Amino acid sequence: MTIQRAAELIGGARHGLALTGAGVSAESGIPTFRGAGGLWTRYDPVKVASIEYFMADPSAYWNVSKDRGRVALAARPNPGHHALAALEAGGRLVAVVTQNTDGLHQDSGSRTVIEVHGSSRTVQCLDCGNREPRSEVQARLDAEMPPRCGICGGTFLKPTVVLFGEPLPQAAIQQAFALARQADVMLVVGSSLVVYPAAEIPLVATRSGAKLIVINAEPTPFDELAAVVIRGKSGEVLPEIVELIDG
Ligand code: NAD
Ligand code: ZN
Repeated sequence: MTIQRAAELIGGARHGLALTGAGVSAESGIPTFRGAGGLWTRYDPVKVASIEYFMADPSAYWNVSKDRGRVALAARPNPGHHALAALEAGGRLVAVVTQNTDGLHQDSGSRTVIEVHGSSRTVQCLDCGNREPRSEVQARLDAEMPPRCGICGGTFLKPTVVLFGEPLPQAAIQQAFALARQADVMLVVGSSLVVYPAAEIPLVATRSGAKLIVINAEPTPFDELAAVVIRGKSGEVLPEIVELIDG
């Protein structure tokens, strides 16, 4: 049985590494980009989530981002996040590399979280560098559009997420690839594995000898490389794995 096999592999891991994507937060009520019900069926991503679009008109960006921000700030970790935190606490995972920007891994108790696409919990002024919590900027959006920097009054306040056209945080990427090269078990959860270079992390891990486990609602391009593929919801599958390991 595949869940049993996944539990055996993760239970025996010495350098287990997880890579998560939007799917792991879907059961917390945050829509994914791709896949069934994904946001990208409604917006053109390369347009609204690009740095060019933001720079051309911050109001247009914030008008799209406003509702999504409200949902993300109210979201709470689900059993999938908690299971990953438990695997780390039990020594089965050394870190969670995440493409998510929602901060829910940290909220669930994961300690080593490597955010390769930044964080939406903080907003930065592109004029003076001032940083503010997203929650504070979010609270003024109804009265102020676009939001203004509390220090310099500038109108280019951008969440510290990586938009299309922006470079990735190099330190996080290097750390993620270094861990992938050392991994003996690579667990990919809730990622369509089509966004590079994040999708290359499991590739590097398997080339270095790691066993790959993919838990995703839909097929991914790397399923054929995997030792175990589990088609299901991360909030249901991951707690079952923890239960089999610890039970
Ligand atoms: P994605 O949206 O491309 O793919 C999500 C995958 O998760 C899909 O293949 C889908 O089938 C699967 N999925 C949906 N619900 C699931 C569930 N309950 N359990 C398991 N799998 C499930 O996500 P991605 O590959 O992470 O890439 C999208 C990019 O968008 C990322 O770079 C990320 O920065 C950003 N993003 C972040 C958030 C967030 O922070 N929560 C949300 C959406 C998008
Ligand atoms: Zn400023």
